[in-house]
Amino acid sequence: MEYDPVCNMKVSKDSKFHSDFQGRTFYFCCEGCKSEFDSNPIKYSRK
Ligand SMILES: [Zn+2]
Repeated sequence: MEYDPVCNMKVSKDSKFHSDFQGRTFYFCCEGCKSEFDSNPIKYSRK
């Protein structure tokens, strides 16, 4: 399992919402969290 860095929910790696940033892949529970991450990836990727 992965953690959604925006809302801290557990997310399955087969989630269709994910983004690559600085060589890591981040997974999200929903489109809204992915959009939030994409608008400010540096803030969220530090967690
Ligand atoms: Zn989320």
